[in-house]
Amino acid sequence: MYDVIIIGSGPAGMTAGIYAARREMKTLIIGKELGGQLVWASEIENYPGFDNISAFDLIDKMKEQALKFKVEIENDEVKKIEKTPEGSFILYTNKKSFSAKTVIIAMGLSPRRLAVPGETELSGKGVSYCANCDGPFFRNKKVVVIGGGNSALDAAEVLSKIASQVYLVHRNDKFRAFDVLLKEVKEKENIEIFTNSEIKKINGTEKVDSISLYNVKTKEEKEIEVDGVFIEVGRIASTDLVIDFVDRNEKNQIIVNTKMETKTPGLFVAGDVCEGEFKQITIATGQGTIAALSAYQYLQLKEGKNVVARDY
Ligand SMILES: Cc1cc2nc3c(=O)[nH]c(=O)nc-3n(C[C@H](O)[C@H](O)[C@H](O)COP(=O)(O)OP(=O)(O)OC[C@H]3O[C@@H](n4cnc5c(N)ncnc54)[C@H](O)[C@@H]3O)c2cc1C
Repeated sequence: MYDVIIIGSGPAGMTAGIYAARREMKTLIIGKELGGQLVWASEIENYPGFDNISAFDLIDKMKEQALKFKVEIENDEVKKIEKTPEGSFILYTNKKSFSAKTVIIAMGLSPRRLAVPGETELSGKGVSYCANCDGPFFRNKKVVVIGGGNSALDAAEVLSKIASQVYLVHRNDKFRAFDVLLKEVKEKENIEIFTNSEIKKINGTEKVDSISLYNVKTKEEKEIEVDGVFIEVGRIASTDLVIDFVDRNEKNQIIVNTKMETKTPGLFVAGDVCEGEFKQITIATGQGTIAALSAYQYLQLKEGKNVVARDY
């Protein structure tokens, strides 16, 4: 029986693990992939204490620190959660089950799908949701980036240094991105921008060969040869796993109070999966801290002990 199991090994989950273990809670983190969205970022320039640190180095440091405090880390996906009549939890992966007195949900966000023919079939065969991870496979090749926000523009910029040609496709003509990034992208010689345009289909069998592009204003349709398709159309909260235990907003983000509590006693939430406008590492780590200290306090009170929840 763990004192706490944390679902998700991104910044929120790793921080919650460090704080829980420092309160001497028996702690397990179950995460699909170490780092979460951080593996999609490249350089981090706004994490206090580091002028500039690679996202991989930052998550490695968090992992090292968690292991130092005896946090256990399981590389797996939680598929089901049950609550026992005694108020503890059973978490199931495909092959194992784990019991815990408390649970912290730190499942973050996952990429939104484009939902066009060819996307699922060619995923991993040229269709990608992570320019920083998969970009190097497209050296001197032609790629297209779909989206009009900071992530899409950032991906186009990163890929322009690797690929020979980058097409940026956005469904209207207003980008929701920082001016400085938009200017940088517009100035790149090997980035061609298609506004008011949508991808109708991704073509190919064994690998991506081309895209069918449709201009919503001129109604013109054309095929463009590309080797890679990078989809950057936003991120969504996939929280059906905990649907019976939490309240959610219209974006399926989990609603919490200031102690990161949910409507289920013993179930806490942290990070991007929570309702909130801003999604940053510092926010996720801060919420991971609160969730862990709240879980500790919850157990202490349940066991009739005094609560000293500070951590310094
Ligand atoms: C391209 C990009 C660049 C960014 N750059 C910056 C930046 O420079 N500075 C900054 O502050 N922020 C940046 N961010 C935002 C930052 O990455 C997020 O705010 C942060 O990662 C959120 O942390 P999290 O732990 O809440 O969620 P996530 O990082 O999303 O981690 C959640 C983890 O939970 C796992 N998970 C989900 N469901 C399950 C399950 N059922 N079982 C097991 N595991 C599960 C996921 O696979 C994932 O590993 C960037 C984001 C992106 C996409």
